[in-house]
Amino acid sequence: MNNGNSATPTTPWEASVAQYLKKHGFEAFQPKAVLFDMDGVIYDSMPNHATSWQKAMDSFGLHMTAADAYRYEGMRGVETIKLLAAQQWQRQLSDEEAQRMYSVKTRYFGQCPPAQKMEGVEALMKLISSMGLTIGVVTGSGQHTLLDKLENDFKGLISQRYMVSSFDVTHGKPAPDPYLKGLHKCGELKPWQAIVVENAPLGVRAAQAAKIFTIAVNTGPLPNQLLADEGADMVFGCMEEVRQSLLAQKSSSASSSSSDASALVSETLP
Ligand code: CA
Repeated sequence: MNNGNSATPTTPWEASVAQYLKKHGFEAFQPKAVLFDMDGVIYDSMPNHATSWQKAMDSFGLHMTAADAYRYEGMRGVETIKLLAAQQWQRQLSDEEAQRMYSVKTRYFGQCPPAQKMEGVEALMKLISSMGLTIGVVTGSGQHTLLDKLENDFKGLISQRYMVSSFDVTHGKPAPDPYLKGLHKCGELKPWQAIVVENAPLGVRAAQAAKIFTIAVNTGPLPNQLLADEGADMVFGCMEEVRQSLLAQKSSSASSSSSDASALVSETLP
């Protein structure tokens, strides 16, 4: 879509990008980086999270269901615990107390079988990388076990340089801060110079608050509509669908340089 004018969009990508530009009042979409969320996007780790959340909170007498784990997914763990305590105990926990409870959850999580790579995510990253786009990771996680695994599991695709975790920000998702930090780490990018890949409603909300084009991939049990309601610019059912959509956009691009990210570029300036 590098026609450089406001011609009628003809592909799903072009239609979504045109809507995105209108929504935020931007004049151009020139992606240079793709920011991936980690849990439920890069790793199929959400079932482990749901189980360890339930066990840990139960040990403190706080009620948390598997569905809650998906609903609050993306938030920093201590913030989720403070929220539950405020709702069920009518009490504001100190950072220290919440952190102490979160460390129990972390311990249970560490005892779970290792999370596998999300099906299709590596092939998607390879395509994105071959298009000349930087791959970043923006996660609310503070799980050292997973963060350390990333570079190793995705050699040549993921670098610590372009990684944002709960250690990098004070305000986690759904605040825009983690994604703004991701833009910063990937080279002082503007919101219209990146794409976010998310799976969780609160993650989509964070990416939208940062005004970044947001692809939601629904890898969990929540309905697609929840992701659309948070403002996702596109919603897919799996990673392979995203890859196919990107390939289709590349091949439909009139550009002779359709092997690079220019296939995704859009400008509304006449
Ligand atoms: Ca996630």
